Amino acid sequence: MRNAALFLSIASATLLAACGARAPEGATVLTASRLYVAPDRPEIDDGAVLFVDGRIVAAGRAAEVATRGAKRLAACDGGTVTAGFQNSHVHFTAEKFANADTKPSADLAVAMTEMLNRWGFTTVVDTASNVANTVILRERVERGDFSGPRILTAGFPLFPKDGIPIYLRDMPPDLLAMFPQPDSVEEALAEVQANFDAGADATKLFLMTPQGGGRHAFMQPDIALAAADETHRRGKLVLAHPTDIEGINLAIEAGVDVLVHTTVGDGKTVWDAALLEQMLARDMAVVPTLMLFPYEFGRQNVPRSVAEAATADVVSQVRAYSDVGGQVLFGTDVGYVTDYDPTAEYRLMARALSPMQILASLTTAPAERWKEEAQRGRVAAGMDADLVVLDADPAADAANFAKVRCTIRKGRPIFSASAE
Ligand SMILES: [Zn+2]
Repeated sequence: MRNAALFLSIASATLLAACGARAPEGATVLTASRLYVAPDRPEIDDGAVLFVDGRIVAAGRAAEVATRGAKRLAACDGGTVTAGFQNSHVHFTAEKFANADTKPSADLAVAMTEMLNRWGFTTVVDTASNVANTVILRERVERGDFSGPRILTAGFPLFPKDGIPIYLRDMPPDLLAMFPQPDSVEEALAEVQANFDAGADATKLFLMTPQGGGRHAFMQPDIALAAADETHRRGKLVLAHPTDIEGINLAIEAGVDVLVHTTVGDGKTVWDAALLEQMLARDMAVVPTLMLFPYEFGRQNVPRSVAEAATADVVSQVRAYSDVGGQVLFGTDVGYVTDYDPTAEYRLMARALSPMQILASLTTAPAERWKEEAQRGRVAAGMDADLVVLDADPAADAANFAKVRCTIRKGRPIFSASAE
């Protein structure tokens, strides 16, 4: 009884202290009409997030957060607030990101804002690019030359010998010439090591690649396994481009951690229970990239009914993997896909997942996959102040995930719609 009374008096004292209480020195407050601290927690109406030096110090009901004297981000106040988003499949291969060492900051600022900052992305995974160029982009972002998300990169991907896929053949020839196509385990290990030495954070494998006319090139299983083992030995992730179900089986054998696409088919391409079970046993994550498929079909003038059936396939793959407890990571292949607006991806994902499952794919799931859940993915004290402010609640319509008012990275706005 005495303990209960003591607890009550401490609790009410804390509450009283919070109401008119002074914020810590140098703090900034962001108010939220609705705050999602995490997809597995109830939403909070009339919320506030307080941060100092790029780190969250308090988040909850505005009445319980000590905000007096804190700076404000007025243009960002009053929306729906979530943790910053991760896009787990992007590329910095477009001409606008080339020659990153000499390109003016103003040009790169525009490119980064159009492709990523304005869509809420505070972390991105570049799943294949010229590693040296992408590392320079990352360094310039971190130095403050221009605003951008945190960049994780797989650098140069590994292809099968003589196995550059047909859809990449119109890339710049000098870039194509740099793509590794190891012919032996020794060559593969040397490529993986060089890529990490150059600053890569993961290894990307193209296990089977279309060569036109229905033919495929295949990476030798011993080469794939050696590259994956070397990556895991360093505590890093292996990403793979599966192409089709045969490619998923190769990925399972190699010990791949993240499939960066679903697999397109003919309207009958299901991931059956046995396949799902093996993927789950390997603790694989899947990046749906659903909007990629209608995008490619549109470019190839595939009849609408065929495109819709194939798109229904990939949606069902995501639903099936999520239903058995598989991890889904949001990603759009933007940079290869030239349509930067992710609205179509959210609409397609909503056919397979709930709004909170989509939020998990943008926040908690990728943080966990990259072993950074103690640092980011939730709006909570101690986490990085990586935040997204939306103009409308995504629980009402998943397309609202694309209605970004502000993107805040480490406490600093990297995008504000009012400034555009
Ligand atoms: Zn891609």
